[in-house]
Amino acid sequence: MSVDHETLLGWLTRLNLTAIRDQLDSLLDEAARQDLTTRETLVFLCGREIARKDERRIEMAMKIAHFPHARDLDGFDFNAQPSVDPHQIRELATARWVAHGEAILLLGPPGVGKSHLAIALGREVIRQNYTVLFTTAQALVAALVKAHGEGRLEDRLALLSKPKLLIIDELGYLPFDPNAAHLFFQLVSRRYERGAMLITSNRSVGEWGTVFGDPVVATAILVRLLHHSHVITIRGDSYRLREKRRSGLLQKATPPLDTANAAL
Ligand code: ADP
Ligand code: MG
Repeated sequence: MSVDHETLLGWLTRLNLTAIRDQLDSLLDEAARQDLTTRETLVFLCGREIARKDERRIEMAMKIAHFPHARDLDGFDFNAQPSVDPHQIRELATARWVAHGEAILLLGPPGVGKSHLAIALGREVIRQNYTVLFTTAQALVAALVKAHGEGRLEDRLALLSKPKLLIIDELGYLPFDPNAAHLFFQLVSRRYERGAMLITSNRSVGEWGTVFGDPVVATAILVRLLHHSHVITIRGDSYRLREKRRSGLLQKATPPLDTANAAL
């Protein structure tokens, strides 16, 4: 069977086997060096192609997710945060809860690593082949209010229901007005038992009535979120303040948690 090199490259392009195409000579050399059988060579080539496709898919999904920055579980110091169970987090990193459309509530004062864990879990979920969208509660509500005002609420809700996991960061930093709370409720109802959600908040569940400005709406939202959920409450003080204190930069005790700077 004789096919010239250029034709073979053309075939590989047609089949979208671009990793094999781009490294054909070196991959074949490698296979020869290792004395691979024909079957082993095929496995080796397919493995390379799949690895490249996975890399590309993950890269693209990370962009679409709109994480504000990169954080990973490897960079999370579990010793510094004894109220977080590393086994539970590792189990959640398998994304089984996402497959089942469950919810995670990550609660705790500012600076204890809620956003860090939310982003790190979101990135793991992408590696497990699911789509993710990250947003803050404030940006989400602003988008819903705007869409509602323009008569496009349905489209927006449909868009927000697409990703398998929706991460909503910083719920409770600002209270919602009644209209916003109702729109948020519609989103939660839409995703309920269909798509997973991860919500971080500096407010305990008992304070959500105040956050939503309406205890009835808050209860309706909570009933849905808590139905199949993992609630993780992080205690302790801000990681950065603690690090500074440890290095001697800060001498005094930190201010009460709810007045501490939210950015820390
Ligand atoms: P929160 O969202 O709870 O306010 P963040 O996740 O933004 O807190 O944490 C503040 C900063 O401290 C971030 O840069 C985060 O990466 C870091 N951080 C917090 N907790 C830890 C931890 N246990 N190990 C490593 N870094 C941490
Ligand atoms: Mg945060």
